[in-house]
Amino acid sequence: MRYNKRLGQCFLRDRNIVKKTVAVADINKNDTVLEIGLGKGILTKELAEQAKKVYVIELDRQLEPFAEEILSAYNNIHILWDDALKVDFNSLDFNKVVANLPYQISSPITFKLLKRDFDISVLMYQYEFAKRLTAKEGTKEYGRLSVAIQYLANVEFICKVSPNAFFPKPKVYSAIVKIIKRKPEDLLPLEDPIFFDDLLRALFQHKNKTIKRALINSSHEINMDREGIKKILNNLPLNNLDFDLNERVFKLSVEDMVKLCNLLYNEIKMD
Ligand code: SAM
Repeated sequence: MRYNKRLGQCFLRDRNIVKKTVAVADINKNDTVLEIGLGKGILTKELAEQAKKVYVIELDRQLEPFAEEILSAYNNIHILWDDALKVDFNSLDFNKVVANLPYQISSPITFKLLKRDFDISVLMYQYEFAKRLTAKEGTKEYGRLSVAIQYLANVEFICKVSPNAFFPKPKVYSAIVKIIKRKPEDLLPLEDPIFFDDLLRALFQHKNKTIKRALINSSHEINMDREGIKKILNNLPLNNLDFDLNERVFKLSVEDMVKLCNLLYNEIKMD
């Protein structure tokens, strides 16, 4: 077959990695699993062995011969020939997600998943993306993606995966990440999630600068002019914070970001 690079078609061939991915998700016969990207079905078959039911979303109809073979061997697999970015996940009754993702949709598919409830997701990403997703404050990989995801979920870097685990062999390393979504009652209270997104964009455009400098330089991202934000920052009541505005952006934890966000939001609203 001709492998479609645009669709991220690097298929798993290392059975140990397949088994490890499924083991991390701790699949049992009560689980209904969503997989994104059938490929030749190596992961799908393992999931079908362990789970009650497996939904697979696959965009490329060229893979139909593999699907037919798999469907004749297992009666607990449902294939949806569609774009995973367009499928309504709420219409499917899965409680776990396991996938070797097409890397070009890593970010939108992860945020889409996080809009829905699930017990656990175990996803294969490009290594650099996985590092950014799971990075802690103070490290060079820590960025807007790290904060946005870790606000919503507990993420754990499981292991790095060599290009040799796939065919065709990708040019880059991969990594497995485990994601457990936070319960609504465990989320840090945010005054305004949209303002939080804007603030993260403003701050991380200058991640090595101080908070003050970053916000002045990117004040437009939070719909303010430079003089307006300077005035707000000069009067910000910082007594309840563990940091000051001269701290570097990349040193702030998720919790710090949320505190700063709520404080700024209230000051700007009152101004
Ligand atoms: N699960 C298989 C494996 O591990 O060998 C295939 C993984 S391969 C990295 C990604 C798969 O996702 C490919 O089969 C590709 O055709 C499919 N794919 C790419 N974009 C997609 C999309 N938007 N929606 C659904 N499937 C997609």
